[in-house]
Parts: sequence; C-alpha cells; structure tokens
Amino acid sequence: SKARETRIKRTKTVCTYCGVGCSFEVWTKGRKILKIEPRPESPANGVLTCVKGKFGWDFVNSEDRLRVPLIRDGDKFREATWEEAISLVARKMKEIKEKYGPDSLGFVASDKMSNEEAYLLQKLARAVVGTNNVDNSSRYCQSPATVGLWRTVGIGADSGTIKDIESSDLIVIVGHNTTESHPVVGSKVKRAKKIRGAKIAVVDVRKHEMAERADLFIRPKPGTDAAVLAGVAKYLIDMDWVDHKFLERVKGFNEFKKSVEGFTLDYVESVTGVPREQLVRLAEMIHEAKSVSFLWGMGVTQHLGGADTSTIISDILLLTGNYGRPGTGAFPMRGHNNVQGVSDFGCLPNYLPGYQKLEENVISKFEDAWRAKLSRRPGLQIPEMIEGVLEGKIHALFIVGEDTVMVDCGTPLTKKALESVNFLVVQDVFMTETAKLADVILPAVPSLEKEGTFVNTERRIQRFYKAMEPLGDAKPDWEIIQMIANALGADWSYSHPSQIMDEVARLTPVFSGVSYSKLEGFNSLVWPVTEEGDTPLLYVNSFATPDGKATLYPLSWRPSSLRDQTHAITLNTGRVLEHFHGGTMTGRVEGLRRKFPEPFVEVSKELSERYSIKDGDLILVKSKSGGEIKARALVSDSVTGEEVFIPLFASDPRNAVNNLTGTEVDKASGTPGYKDTPVMIEKLSQS
Ligand code: SF4
Repeated sequence: SKARETRIKRTKTVCTYCGVGCSFEVWTKGRKILKIEPRPESPANGVLTCVKGKFGWDFVNSEDRLRVPLIRDGDKFREATWEEAISLVARKMKEIKEKYGPDSLGFVASDKMSNEEAYLLQKLARAVVGTNNVDNSSRYCQSPATVGLWRTVGIGADSGTIKDIESSDLIVIVGHNTTESHPVVGSKVKRAKKIRGAKIAVVDVRKHEMAERADLFIRPKPGTDAAVLAGVAKYLIDMDWVDHKFLERVKGFNEFKKSVEGFTLDYVESVTGVPREQLVRLAEMIHEAKSVSFLWGMGVTQHLGGADTSTIISDILLLTGNYGRPGTGAFPMRGHNNVQGVSDFGCLPNYLPGYQKLEENVISKFEDAWRAKLSRRPGLQIPEMIEGVLEGKIHALFIVGEDTVMVDCGTPLTKKALESVNFLVVQDVFMTETAKLADVILPAVPSLEKEGTFVNTERRIQRFYKAMEPLGDAKPDWEIIQMIANALGADWSYSHPSQIMDEVARLTPVFSGVSYSKLEGFNSLVWPVTEEGDTPLLYVNSFATPDGKATLYPLSWRPSSLRDQTHAITLNTGRVLEHFHGGTMTGRVEGLRRKFPEPFVEVSKELSERYSIKDGDLILVKSKSGGEIKARALVSDSVTGEEVFIPLFASDPRNAVNNLTGTEVDKASGTPGYKDTPVMIEKLSQS
C-alpha cells in the first residue's frame, strides 16, 4: 500500500559481497535504499564496512533485473508464466533422465544462494533426480584450501574467527590482497599492527597495499610460494624451533621432515628468487611470535599446486603449535558471501550436508528422511560437468546464480559447452552471459528480497531478513527449486526457510543445535553447533579426525611452469576494491562503475621498457590456450619481471580475463590454475 511505501523500514541484513560477512541494518522506503547502518553488535565487523557493503546495493533496482520467466524461442526469448516455465523444465529433465540416466544431469550452485537454498538444490539433485552431480563455485577458488586443511586438521574452514586474526602476534598473509579483497579484515589487520604492535609478513608475487605496510615482504617467482614455505618449515625443524609438546597431538613428523629435506636455503633461493635472509627472517618471526595466524587467498589457491601450498601452510601451523589457541590458526579467506555455507549445506559432489561422507550409514539416514533412493556414485565437479557436455555425457545443466561463461577458466570452451548442451536452465537475478545461452531462464531475487542464512568465512551462521518485496514475478531460489521438485513428483511443502534449517539440523551433526530462534537479529552461531553451544575456536583439545590427531602431510612440490618461449609472461588475475569479481552486481551500480569504468593490464617496468609501453597504451594480450583480449596498460611496480596482472572486472565480456585462462586444474582439488596462465603481449596503439 501507499502508506507502507512512505514508511522507513530498518532491516537487518548480511552483506552480499565478500566472505567477511559484515552485517548491518539497511534503511529502505519502498524499494529505495536510503542507507546502510553498521551496528556495534554486528559480530564480524562491528561498525566497519567497505565501499561495496555501504554503496553496492542499487543493483536490486537495476533495469537489467529479470522479472518474468523466459523461454527460448529461436534466437530470442519470450515471456512465460511460472507454470509454463516450470512444467517445461520438469518435462525436459524427466525426458533426459529417462533417456540417458540421472547422471546425465548436472547442477551448479551459486555462492550467493542462502544455506537453505543450497540444501534444497542438492536435495533436488540427489533425492528427486538421483545424481550426486552437484557442485558450487568454490571449485573456482577455495577448494584447494579445503583439501589442504582436510589433509592436516580435518575441517576445511577457518580454524578461528576474525577476533583471532585481530589478536594474533604475527599475521602471515600469503597470496591475498587483503585490503581490496576482504577490506574489513584488511582494516582490522592494519589496526592490530597500529594499536597492538602485531607483526605482518606478506608472501605475494604482487606488491599490494598490505605488502607495502608489512614488516616483511617476500616476493617469490610466480608459482613458487610452496617452496618458500617448505624452506621455512625445514629451517624451523633444523633450528629445533618446533613445539614438541604440541607435536604429541600430531602424526607424521618423520615423513614430513623427509619431504622437506631438499628445501635448503640454497635450493629455495635458487628456485624462488627469494633471498635467504628473508626466508630466515620469516622463520624467526614465526618462532618469536606467541601466536601466529596465516591468511591466504586465491594467490595460493588458483594455482596448479594450490592444494599443496595450502597444505604446507597448515603444516607450519602444526609444527609450531599454532592451532587451538586464541590468536592462532588457518584462515583461507572465503571469497563470496556464502561460499562457505553452500559447501557446508551439501552442494558438493562427494559429500552430503555437513561434509558427511557418501558412506552407507549416512546415505541410509538421508534415504529414510528424504524417502528416496540415493546414488552411491560420487558426482562430477563443475569443470568435469563442462567436459562431460563436450564428451556427450551431460545432457542437461541447471545453473543457479552463476555466470559460468565468465567465471570458468577458458571462456571459449565453456561457452561452446553451454551452447551445445541439450537443455540449459539458468536461474539468476540478471541476464548474464550464461543466461543468454539458456533454454529457460527463471528469475530469482537477491538477498534483500527474501529471508535466509549465510555462513561467513569464520563459519559464522547469520540470518538476513526481507527488506522489500520481490521485483516483478521474480521469486526466491528456494521457492523455485521447490516448484521444480514438486513438478518432478516430490511433495515438498516448505513455507519458510526456517523449516528447511530445522530439517538440516535433524540430519547434520555439525548443525544439530542450529535454529532460527537462536539466530534472531544480530545473534549468530559458529559451527559446529550442538545443543551445548557453538565453536568459535576449533581444535582446542582435539582435531576433527577419527583419532583426534592432526597429520603433518608430506610435501610433494617440484618446479613447473606452463610457459614457453612464445608465451613467456605469466598472467595474474584478481579483484579490485570497487568491483566484486566479474561485476555482475557491482557493474550495475552507477557510482562504482564510474570510479572504475574499464579493466586494465598492469605491466611491469621491465616489460614496459622492452615493449616501449606507456600508461594508457592499448595492449593485445594473447594466451597459450588461444584466447586474446585488449586492455589499456598501467605500468606499475605492483608486478615485476615477466608478469602482468589483469583484474576480473570487465565491462565488455569479449575482453574479460577468462578468455585467456586455460583449462588445466589442480589435481587434488579440481580447481583451475587461473594464475598459471602463460601469455604474450603486443602494443596495438599509443594512448
Ligand atoms: Fe561486504 Fe566484504 Fe565489504 Fe564487509 S568487507 S562490507 S562483507 S564486501
């Protein structure tokens, strides 16, 4: 009603951008967003926010929002009713399942979905369709960190909370541009240094703002950070700077020691280019600090050896007794707001919700609860689904909120796969490049138009509330998924996300104590949550392994590079502060777009001299895998030697950086080696 639209409404919400999980009140009048007000009781951020959280919300009123279901009609789309769109989706899915079997369908979850929606998507795949082919976009970023932590300590998530980072004596940041990727954590790290005298060490190929502020900045050659850390681990062992008491809780010391034997200071210096004094200094800083935390990001994980580097980080923490105490621990910084939760709630091809293995006793528990027969066969990861399409094994893809064409590595091949798949359903808020290829587009709503919960990088579960009504005919993902499930013969009757959470709590030990009533307002719970309470700090008394012991996991690292004579330059990619990833949301916020209108390529001083490149020159970048893009040059000492950097944001999809990336993946995690892309450059014109 008119009266309601003129009233100012204050709604608690959780940021929809990065994994810090800042919460705040959003002030709205009808659909107009008046302001974002952080509150002191916000558990992750207090009164802090960054530019995206504060100003990045106008996309909800963007002209580009999808408002009605669309069905492909030749080269175009025509508007359809929900009934028509859902029955078409159900009919095609049924046909394909009958003809090619349940494993010919694949489901891709967005890391922006709520926990409840992620749970329903994997339930649709598993209980209704009968396949474990369900994965989420953490495959593109943080799966290697998860693998490294599973190998060593048992839970693939941050071992403590942001408070532990803040109270750490030494914060080691590896391959992570904290200031721009997780700004609020960046501010807290800087404050810890300023107020408490905490030390900061940065290991990164890129000299970003945090590197400039650090007490120690180590700049290895691309792809050699694991060797730097192995050298440090060996030095710690040689100096007997290990925590013997703590090692009683850890297995595998001898095997680990043997695996790093070859990483002498001489060897590490020669392969990484890092002076030995810096390696020794990092080891000394770790030894001298009472508490050490390690933060890492995609500078580690988006490499072909991403899982190994993540593993050696955890190994160093174990060697030096830096788990299970305040101020210590492992912090793989989660990218999307709900990348943690979407995995936690089961959108993984080899785990049921809460990382329950596909084992007989677990499967039969879910079969009883869901009254369905479940597949025992582990499903496909996203890159395998894309490959499966090209090989003729996957015939239908259901992609929720993920611009796969833009974010997967090797855009041209991904596009080819999505163009050729028999049936493609895309459920999204916007007409993305991926949606443009769909057979059916289902209009979804952003978090401000629905209720649910997210899990931030700390494992913290937080509620968000509805600030405004859905735009047009768009619906929350959970409602759409329920309609599809029921059209396929299920009898789901969830009327509120809290009922979905209650079901999760009944079936998932790590969430057994979670309920919406305990999460009212700014209250939050850090999983594992039982009836007794939550667990902000993991591993205080034991590790999350069957015998309670951690494992020092041996390192297997050898120098390798995909570069050749023609493609001798390494391309690095990343985020900028004003934009989130490819810019699906932030690219539609006028203020942010003005500040950062088009992508650039950062060129090192050495390369700029060799190719006579000046700021603003138009550069052609060609990759070994055959892609090419154009971008303006920015000569910068953020990169050195044979390196260029291109941000993920692109206003024109033809110049998006993933046109360049190849399709090689990290063997242990299936994550593409985005940052191992060999390229060549050519100057096209002067500015
Ligand atoms: Fe949002 Fe991350 Fe910025 Fe916080 S730091 S406001 S969660 S983008």
